[in-house]
Amino acid sequence: GTANPLPELSAARLNIALTSNPRTVPAAGSPEIASQKVCTDHMIQARWTVSNGWDAPSLQAYGPLSIMPTASVLHYATECFEGMKLYRGYDGKLRLFRPTLNCNRMLMSTNRIALPAFQPAELLKLIVALCAQDGAKWLPKDQPGAFLYIRPTMIATDSALGVQRPKEALLYVIMTMFPAMDASSTPGGMKLLASRDDMVRAWPGGFGYAKVGANYGPSLVAQGEARAQGFDQILWLFGEKCNVTEAGASNFFVVWKTKEGKTQLVTAPLGEKIILDGVTRRSVLELARTRLEKGGELEVVERKYDMFELEEAYNEGRLIECFVSGTAFFIAPISLINFRGKELNIDMKEGDMGTYTKTIKTWLKNIMWGKEQHEWGYVV
Ligand code: PMP
Repeated sequence: GTANPLPELSAARLNIALTSNPRTVPAAGSPEIASQKVCTDHMIQARWTVSNGWDAPSLQAYGPLSIMPTASVLHYATECFEGMKLYRGYDGKLRLFRPTLNCNRMLMSTNRIALPAFQPAELLKLIVALCAQDGAKWLPKDQPGAFLYIRPTMIATDSALGVQRPKEALLYVIMTMFPAMDASSTPGGMKLLASRDDMVRAWPGGFGYAKVGANYGPSLVAQGEARAQGFDQILWLFGEKCNVTEAGASNFFVVWKTKEGKTQLVTAPLGEKIILDGVTRRSVLELARTRLEKGGELEVVERKYDMFELEEAYNEGRLIECFVSGTAFFIAPISLINFRGKELNIDMKEGDMGTYTKTIKTWLKNIMWGKEQHEWGYVV
């Protein structure tokens, strides 16, 4: 006979158990927010086992997890996560930004790290349930422009120590208070230190394209060295040609003039699977294609390019702007790149950032905070 299919992840089965200990919302600008340790009142949890599939998810009080010291995630990094934001709009509405892309990417990451599959639409409904529960209190209506950072996470909780595909997992979603990390936190632009050959973030055949924790822990040595030398982030290079890939946990963009005099917006391609398919990256590319390229203002190019090309453009006065894109850093201008001791100083022109960087940032901002009604804004 046919076996009954195991239960899928289902937001319709959500059990709601509200906290009896509501937390205090720290005041805007307080050091507690900068600590990035303050989460909202509730979290979503859903357990999975290989034999019973997905249990009914719950919305419950935020608090510690209990897992065995042998849990797979603690030994083999069987973990993946997402990063997105809940925005309090200038029209008073709460919005997510293209959340379907995050939920699809989460599924892609779980597949890469041997965690269980689920329907991305169900994850989105759970995220929305948490946002709807905690959003009003944690993002007061009189603070338009504020946001919370949402961290959907999956870990293998299987307590069998053997190196094997986990048979138990936990999905959870938390929301934290987070300081703005864009241009406002690094006035005058971010300073990048190009990575050395012995500190490679991702490689073809690896997992750099997935949002697995295993990509991030090992990057912290290089990041720590960069910070100690006064830089903000690492510019991750790859291979003998020093291909430019990403910066910190953000995608990286260049605006330059080609030798033929064409203005181009360039970023590394996804094909080799060493780049994270950033939601912000995609959005920058799509906006630049529809709003700039069509008008003939610049060409949008996804291609491999290397540090020597960047250096040459700089030396020939063709390097116009560089910026990073990502949920955390949003769109942040780059003012300096140190490559093997040589410094590329990028002119910030109007003071805070270049014209293209500013234009693209403003477009995105307007969509995220509801100044422009756009299908990418997902009202909660
Ligand atoms: N690259 C890496 C390595 C990242 O971790 C992130 C953050 N998710 C990004 C780029 C930016 O992606 P997104 O725009 O989806 O936040």
